[in-house]
Parts: sequence; structure tokens; C-alpha cells
Amino acid sequence: MNLGKEIEYIDFHTHHGAGSADTVAVRNIMSGEDIPEDFTPNTLFSAGIHPWQGTADNIKWLKTELILTAAHPHVAVIGEAGFDRLKGPPPDVQRDLFRFQCQLAEEMHKPMVIHCVRGWDDLLTLRQEVKPVMPWVIHGFRGKPQLAETLAGKGFWFSLGLSGLKKEILDSISYDRLLLETDDTVGSITNVYLRLMELTHRQAVQITELIKANFNNLFS
Ligand SMILES: [Zn+2]
Repeated sequence: MNLGKEIEYIDFHTHHGAGSADTVAVRNIMSGEDIPEDFTPNTLFSAGIHPWQGTADNIKWLKTELILTAAHPHVAVIGEAGFDRLKGPPPDVQRDLFRFQCQLAEEMHKPMVIHCVRGWDDLLTLRQEVKPVMPWVIHGFRGKPQLAETLAGKGFWFSLGLSGLKKEILDSISYDRLLLETDDTVGSITNVYLRLMELTHRQAVQITELIKANFNNLFS
């Protein structure tokens, strides 16, 4: 991707946000939902089967719906997909849904955005199995620095919001595989940029250039 000069901010994962004159927003669409027809300029979408969505009898339908939605030209990212040990269908169903989405992401040459609650062993096993060429971005990471370091060492990207941005996490990951997000919180992406500036003691322009460069690299 090659973003224009007017773009300052990128909100990599949001459920409510929309693009604006200076902001690219990647809005999440769950399988079965339609891409809104009236989206604003600089709005992109991620489309995926959230691990919470699977039930005993909807798996085939979810996969078909996702294939249709993912073909939309503004769908840039596959997901959020992943594992949740606290909610959703049994682990084998979650594995099947995740594997399907990894393959789709590889075929369509799109990065993935990942939701993971406690299912880290499954995520790492699948990464080993799929050996993806496309980047996998863990969003909303809330784990320990040690886990962040392990995941960063395996090549994972991170998308962090206000609650995930902590000094000890930033020290454990790679700055050139970092993105920022608002997810489901209210509040502007600019607050997240400010927090990253404070934590890293960098100038605003350095942070906006870093995230922009990362976003461009994600798609190259
Ligand atoms: Zn989300």
C-alpha cells in the first residue's frame, strides 16, 4: 500500500471508526455482515470469522459468506480470526476456522488480524504448520512481556491500543512490526499516538512516519 501525504493516522483495528481526511481506518466486518455501502474515503475493512461466531451448524455458511465478503476491493485484511479459550466453540472447531482463514489470506495475499485469548499454543502450532508468507498481526495483546517477546521472535506483528501500550511490552517487540488501534473503545486514534509518543520519548512526526511506514510494509 502507498498512503498519500495527507494521511497522518492509521487505526488498524476498529469496530466503529471510519476513515477521514487524515486517517485511514481498518474497520472490522464479521462473516455474514455486509460491507456498508456508504463508507467514507480512507476506510478499509478487515473481514473474518471471529472465534466467537462458530456454532455446531453454521461453519459452512460462515466460510462461504467470508469468501464473498473478502472479494470486496476494500477488504485489505483477513480476520479478526483466532482462538479464545474463554468463549466460543470447542478448540477443534476454532482450529478449523482459523486454518481456513490462514489459507484464504495466503491465497488472496492479504495480512491477517488475530484475536487470541489464552490459545497461544494453538496459534503457534498453526503458524508452524501454515508457514505463512503474509504477516499475522496480533491485535489487543494483553499478555506478559515474555510472551510478547516469544511471539515477536516468531515474526508476529502487534497492533496495540491504549490499554495494551506499555513500556515493558514495547521493550519486548519490534518497532517496525507495530501498528495502533482503537478496537472497541471510544476515543480517537490520536490518543493512542500520544501515548506511544510519551512512552518512547519520540516526536509526533517520528511516530506518524513509523506507523505509516509499517502499514505500507505490511502490504508489500
Ligand atoms: Zn476486534
